[in-house]
Amino acid sequence: MSHVNLVTGGAGFIGSHLCEALLARGEQVLCLDNFFTGRKQNIAHLLGSPQFELVRHDVTNPIMLEVDRIYNFACPASPVHYQFNPVKTIKTSVMGALNMLGLAKRVKARVLQASTSEVYGDPTVHPQVESYWGNVNPIGIRSCYDEGKRVAEALFFDYHRQNGVDIRVIRIFNTYGPRMLVNDGRVVSNFVVQALRNHPITIYGDGSQTRSFCYVSDLVDGIIRMMDCQDFTGPVNLGNPGEFTIKELAETVAEMTDSKSVIEYKPLPENDPTRRRPDITLARERLGWQPTIPLREGLKETIAYFRNVLAQG
Ligand code: NAD
Ligand code: UDP
Repeated sequence: MSHVNLVTGGAGFIGSHLCEALLARGEQVLCLDNFFTGRKQNIAHLLGSPQFELVRHDVTNPIMLEVDRIYNFACPASPVHYQFNPVKTIKTSVMGALNMLGLAKRVKARVLQASTSEVYGDPTVHPQVESYWGNVNPIGIRSCYDEGKRVAEALFFDYHRQNGVDIRVIRIFNTYGPRMLVNDGRVVSNFVVQALRNHPITIYGDGSQTRSFCYVSDLVDGIIRMMDCQDFTGPVNLGNPGEFTIKELAETVAEMTDSKSVIEYKPLPENDPTRRRPDITLARERLGWQPTIPLREGLKETIAYFRNVLAQG
């Protein structure tokens, strides 16, 4: 059956790859975005498709549409962008979830929430399993994002229990790849852009904190498998279990770009999680999913993308 999909945040980094993958399956896509961190260039190549439509809209306001699947991805994801207007970030997560759940309830659509590994906060359980409730500071500078996503998860499960809405919740771990913004502020794009410009590579703290990096095509495959899956609400972790220190990432990027950059140590931001790695047993079992692209391979594509963007000035 061909679906009519709504992708909120569809002009963003992950959203644009998702729109592309859904169109490639022959499905219809309504891409909704307020262009805070998303860009028309990300989806410009899709505008010619009769299966594709673009709507400028802010998810904090309700919207009436006829769709049967909703992917709720609208929300700035980089700390730099989500801390720019923290109140708006919470509104986007909470009111965006409410509006998309209300829409799903009315039109009986299946609705998938892009949640995050940030719901685990600075985790005391490692690697993180879905049954872990997390260690989140409710009043810190990351709470607008972390707590906003936690409320969204609560809303999803209450709409499911109370109103029978067909929900899917995924917890996405650090994902990278082409179409991240040059000024995105997250670690992979920062390091690649700094290395290509031969500017200092900025490590926050001593670089011993870890993250696990998933290439975007692997993630999109997992997202669609979750949406297609019957009788499974999640939450399910989607991420690459390959864990690296931030210092290792800096060294790998510098080597792969032949960069003359030096490493510059900067203060560690408040509440920066010390380690993060997904346990993906559940995704393996329920979705038959696991990442296929190792860090170096994904970095190669990402470096090529940014080389091209920087060459265009
Ligand atoms: P992104 O910033 O590139 O994409 C977010 C998109 O949402 C942008 O196009 C932005 O313009 C749009 N948006 C923001 N506020 C909006 C609003 N109020 N109304 C309508 N559109 C709005 O970030 P991304 O990395 O593509 O992240 C997409 C989703 O995945 C987010 O919900 C994020 O929390 C989640 N996620 C991403 C990662 C990751 O590592 N990339 C990890 C965990 C979760
Ligand atoms: N980081 C860094 N240098 C940068 C950007 C980020 O050392 O230029 C660190 C950051 O402090 C964190 C890790 O890299 O420990 C991942 O940061 P990012 O913002 O990409 O994602 P998140 O912290 O949300 O996982």
